[in-house]
Amino acid sequence: MIRSWMKTGAARFMNQTGVGALISSWAGAKGVPFVANYHRVVENFEESAKNSIPSMLVSRSMLEQHLDWIGRRFRFVSLDELGERIGNKDGRGDPVAAVTFDDGYRDFYDHALPLLKQKGVPAAVFVVTDLVGTMRLQLHDKLYLLLSHRFRPNSGAPTPFQATRALLENLTRADLENLTRALEADVSISEDVLQPFHSLTWEMLGEIHRAGMTVGSHGQSHALMTNESRQQVMREAAVSRSELEARLGTVVQHFAYPGGCFDDAAVEAVAAAGYRFAYTTCGHQHASLPRLTIPRSVFWQNSSSDSHGRFSGAVLNCQINHAFSLLSGCRQRHGTGREHEHGRV
Ligand SMILES: [Zn+2]
Ligand SMILES: [Zn+2]
Repeated sequence: MIRSWMKTGAARFMNQTGVGALISSWAGAKGVPFVANYHRVVENFEESAKNSIPSMLVSRSMLEQHLDWIGRRFRFVSLDELGERIGNKDGRGDPVAAVTFDDGYRDFYDHALPLLKQKGVPAAVFVVTDLVGTMRLQLHDKLYLLLSHRFRPNSGAPTPFQATRALLENLTRADLENLTRALEADVSISEDVLQPFHSLTWEMLGEIHRAGMTVGSHGQSHALMTNESRQQVMREAAVSRSELEARLGTVVQHFAYPGGCFDDAAVEAVAAAGYRFAYTTCGHQHASLPRLTIPRSVFWQNSSSDSHGRFSGAVLNCQINHAFSLLSGCRQRHGTGREHEHGRV
């Protein structure tokens, strides 16, 4: 609640004083485009938030409000067009925005795609190739579900979200899978709870591609590239790209780092796999390959809400300007002592 009041107050301050616009022009001057990022799109936020990490969710109606608000201020472009502008170092001209959805949830097909088609918004979906067409869950969803079912919240203990995040940030994919298996032996979760987390199928992805949307890679397994061996990181980037290209019959140019996590090895692997553009979730950019660390603003249901839970253009505006990440800081180190520009955008 206090955070929400602070956020609304900070948004009003930044809009009224022009600080938000200042940050925006600073980001624009550095050639940083506006790329919005969402995860799941659901019918009813409160209902879905009972079993899901809330910050992964946006309701269809809130997404529509975002798109309408953004569409009045920016021209929506595909990631290919955005990339061309970056390539031409053409930061000027009309303000443009791109919209992306990570993780490849089936609800993109059910709720986002019809809305995007109706509004003529070109968007991109970043998928985890090992999960496409399977009933398997993303590890972060499974861990969160298992931890929320297994442990009763008590004061002072980490919340299921805090515990999930700490485990994801610190363990390798193999260790996380072992831990999940151990928890699964202890807790059973019914199929109707698991069903909303399912991924897109290859047929759906084909339809999404034919509808003019961009399909990009979000890795083979969603392993955080900063936690894995160099060999594994190379495999995540390369195998997912070749599988998408073979299945969809198209060239795949775009990659989104799982969890937004990158370091030099991750950027090098993405370059070696042949991607032309890659996307993060913070303001840091690789000094020599900025097109492989394009920042995105991560949105969810409450990221644009005022203290009464209502949609607020002022709050959304600050998110677009990366103003809150500027204030709250980045949790990643991106590899200490490596070649990174730690300037904020
Ligand atoms: Zn992801
Ligand atoms: Zn960062």
